[in-house]
Amino acid sequence: MSVGMKSVTDRLRDSGLLRTQGLIGGKWIDAYDGKTLEVHNPATGEVIANVSCMGGKETKDAISSAFDAFNSWSKLTAAERSKGLRKWYDLLMAHKEELGQLITLEQGKPLKEAVGEVDYGAKFIEFYAEEAKRVYGEIIPATLPDRRLFVLKQPVGVAGAITPWNFPLAMITRKVGPALACGCTVVVKPSEFTPLTALAAAELALQAGIPPGVVNVVMGNAPDIGDALLTSPQVRKITFTGSTAVGKKLMAGAAGTVKKVSLELGGNAPCIVFDDADLNVAVNGALAAKFRNSGQTCVCANRVLVQEGIYEKFADAFSKAVKNLKVGDGFGEGVVQGPLINKAALEKVETFVEDAVSKGAKVLLGGRRHSLGMTFYEPTVLSNVKSEMLVSREEVFGPVAPLLCFKTEEEAIHMANDTNAGLAAYIFTNNLQRTWRVSEALEYGLVGVNEGLISTEVAPFGGVKQSGLGREGSKYGMDEFLEKEGACSTAFELYFEDGLE
Ligand code: NAP
Repeated sequence: MSVGMKSVTDRLRDSGLLRTQGLIGGKWIDAYDGKTLEVHNPATGEVIANVSCMGGKETKDAISSAFDAFNSWSKLTAAERSKGLRKWYDLLMAHKEELGQLITLEQGKPLKEAVGEVDYGAKFIEFYAEEAKRVYGEIIPATLPDRRLFVLKQPVGVAGAITPWNFPLAMITRKVGPALACGCTVVVKPSEFTPLTALAAAELALQAGIPPGVVNVVMGNAPDIGDALLTSPQVRKITFTGSTAVGKKLMAGAAGTVKKVSLELGGNAPCIVFDDADLNVAVNGALAAKFRNSGQTCVCANRVLVQEGIYEKFADAFSKAVKNLKVGDGFGEGVVQGPLINKAALEKVETFVEDAVSKGAKVLLGGRRHSLGMTFYEPTVLSNVKSEMLVSREEVFGPVAPLLCFKTEEEAIHMANDTNAGLAAYIFTNNLQRTWRVSEALEYGLVGVNEGLISTEVAPFGGVKQSGLGREGSKYGMDEFLEKEGACSTAFELYFEDGLE
């Protein structure tokens, strides 16, 4: 282990945040067969830690713990649940630096971006600590004079939360925050590539006084853990962020026990630059939308559609900006582009670029593995890209910006919507009418206008078409963990004996 990594892991161990076992019923537990799996630093290939490699048996126990804890957690007052969440938020923020380091270690993103993720992720806990107190029901005008009709919102029950590696903290807090606020308990399954951040966050939940069994974490054999969650009648909700292929499997699997399902799946975001855009705003916006997390986010611009009148100027200015992006280990000074998560991701990027070049795309910048080796890939700009190339059809999930040219607004909308995905889209224009017209015509759950960073805890986040079901973040994120229960009662007279106003 390198000296730098050893000092980071030593510090994390000293602060009690380097957890390697699963969390079931408030206890840190090894896999029942003793198996472990290695967690690597993608920048160096070094093993950071060996974590318990769990499966169906451990997951069944985690579900039982969550089911038992549901009885008491769901019966607390909203104010009590809110307090626990608020304390958890405070602890996440108090350990922002260490959590950021952990994210950089296991995921590879630059430290500044990783610390930014901690801020972003913690805000979901803060927001839902507040939202916990606002689960209002409704009184409905009754159909008979002596009846009263009302709607109660009730927590759905135990939720299984399966999350990806690209946001090791925020994808968990965005699910667990609203679940706990509503009174649900959870079994979290983080990605095998980034379990350490999830475990550290769970440790802080325990320290915040969130009772044992309310938050459980198991990781290891994904299909076995998934099957245990899907087949258990005690699990009433599956919330998933990840690839569309796995999301479809989970949706089919959840049908057996008719669970509530929400899915945050892959995207194929168009970033449309019109002739009337401000060039600087468009370049900076496209840069942020494409290259953060080395292109490994579901809302990353996947296709940059540029109108013919501004195409050359944009391609030139954008390539110059991309050339300045410093690549390296996420702990390095000034680094803004880390490694890709693993070899498979690197090979996917290579295949997509090779396919594009073989079909006539031109490499303006990059287009090959970085001299740093490992899974580093050069920030790349391709021009003369066509809609039928792989890089336009599927998420490249890497630092490759394909530039496509269009003539008219109608053509841009057609190209943008010509995909099964519908998560995020971006437009750059200074024309107000066009802003509304195009935003509404785009079949996407999120549209950024003259802006490359659009995620926030206060706005609903989610996709249409095959990018998913349901919304996370905002007040709407609560609905995913609530059932609306209708009740009818015979009218009764009210007595106000306590004399209060
Ligand atoms: P993934 O391969 O689908 O994995 C996501 C999670 O599912 C991981 O925890 C994985 O476990 C688990 N998993 C895999 N197979 C499973 C199975 N058969 N049963 C149960 N769980 C299973 O996706 P990824 O590569 O980690 O993440 C990248 C994808 O996520 C991209 O497509 C991206 O667009 C999408 N994403 C979407 C959003 C959004 O909000 N819409 C946000 C972030 C990412 P292991 O890792 O342990 O195998």
